[in-house]
Amino acid sequence: MDKQYQHSEHEAKIYQLWQDHNCFNPDRELTAGENLSANAGVGANATPTSTIATHYSQTKKSRSAFTIIMPPPNANDPLHIGHAMFVALEDALVRYHRMLGDDTVWIPGTDHAGIETQFVFEKKLKKLGQSRFQFDRETLFKMIWDYVQENSGVAIDQIKQLGASADWSRFKFTLDPDVVATVLETFSKLAAAKLLYRDNKLINYCTRCGTAFSNLEVVHQDGVAPLYYLKYGPLTLATTRPETKFGDVAVAVHPDDVRYQKYHHQEIEVVGLNGNFKLKVIPDNFVDKEFGTGVVKITPYHDFNDFEFWRRHRAELPQPKLVIDHSGRLTAVAGKYAGLKVAAARNQVIADLQAKDLIVKINQNYQNSVGNCYRCGHAIEPLPLPQFYVKVKPLTERVLTALDEGHITVVGAGHDKILRHWLNRLEDWNISRQIVWGIRLPVWYSTTKYPDILINFIDKSSQKQSGKIGDLLKNFTLEEISAGLQTLNAPIETEYQISPTSPGPEFLQETDTFDTWF
Ligand SMILES: [Zn+2]
Repeated sequence: MDKQYQHSEHEAKIYQLWQDHNCFNPDRELTAGENLSANAGVGANATPTSTIATHYSQTKKSRSAFTIIMPPPNANDPLHIGHAMFVALEDALVRYHRMLGDDTVWIPGTDHAGIETQFVFEKKLKKLGQSRFQFDRETLFKMIWDYVQENSGVAIDQIKQLGASADWSRFKFTLDPDVVATVLETFSKLAAAKLLYRDNKLINYCTRCGTAFSNLEVVHQDGVAPLYYLKYGPLTLATTRPETKFGDVAVAVHPDDVRYQKYHHQEIEVVGLNGNFKLKVIPDNFVDKEFGTGVVKITPYHDFNDFEFWRRHRAELPQPKLVIDHSGRLTAVAGKYAGLKVAAARNQVIADLQAKDLIVKINQNYQNSVGNCYRCGHAIEPLPLPQFYVKVKPLTERVLTALDEGHITVVGAGHDKILRHWLNRLEDWNISRQIVWGIRLPVWYSTTKYPDILINFIDKSSQKQSGKIGDLLKNFTLEEISAGLQTLNAPIETEYQISPTSPGPEFLQETDTFDTWF
């Protein structure tokens, strides 16, 4: 006998033996006297299956169920130490219940892992001198599918090497047709239960490329930019973005800043370029007392921090207004500046503010970091994009009630408190992702009723086309647009239909995918 245990000589053989005999499938009928150990010669210490078989046949009627769905690791990646941890814990539980004679099943699977996988795939494309913008979404999806299929064996083999007693006959990939069908059905159910809504969320947007980018794709560059000190009624505030001021909903100060405490929750009257307006002064910890004058303007649709601020204080603030549209021009909200591009608008606004003596000073050497498009180098605009949300409160309330009434037992001292804390703080769930690698939302928009829907697509001669669907339909058929579709951006007021298939010949399907599976 070897001095040391050589796992490589034994474990693969043992696992194969378990698999050959379908040992982890609760539907399997074991026969008394079946002896697994004899077949593979793995020694006297192998699982005493015959004993289990006898126990099974005796207790079958009274067997209770024990089920764990394995948290599926990413199909495209090798496992890490955290996976080994959960496999060890879940395997111990599953084997314990199997030995008790429970009807035990541990369902394994792998996750398509939308954002991460598409990001990794795009890095691979980049090495080949290509990018996602060269492909329509269907082609890109197919390419990523093939790539994931090539790699998905690694994680599965590693789970097996860990000895996981999972029922591989029940294996699921999160893009399997039955999983997709369940996701689409669940989405319809959520809509029917009025738990679904569409609302704006800020995203990184390149107005030149006409595309949303993930945080990972924004290139941050440190540089020097002018910081403008503007008169806002009795206050002076500092901003690098005077051209977005038409979308202000408040000004904010730090609650402890004694200079401004008398203004808390008061309204100030401000002289503006399109006439006077009023804003509330709201105290909030996010304001840096050292930045500028310690007063900042809040422009929710054009700054990530401001949008979060608005969500925190929305009860006492007006609705946000869109100042810059998705083509990078100022909207009607900006009055006489409507139609100007951002840079031109900024120059004009500064000139007019100076003429009205509303600029206190300009710091030309303000150090800041700006986000640029990794593809074209253009400045990234934070812009609102309508996305789907699941209302969480009606769901968490039911869980909290079940906890209160003792229908759910949380194991481990104090962990029920952590669960309650988490449930109480949970915000509505944003389930839209602006990527192709995932399950496409079964949401359809009428192109005849809503000609302002923005489209990017690759035409038959492989040229990229962008614009409003109403204009594009003058030169292209909807069939061609649909076949080459890359992205679609339907304004917030657009009505939609939920259906797994097209509800009519004039409809186009949403290009966003689910952040999840059910
Ligand atoms: Zn760009």
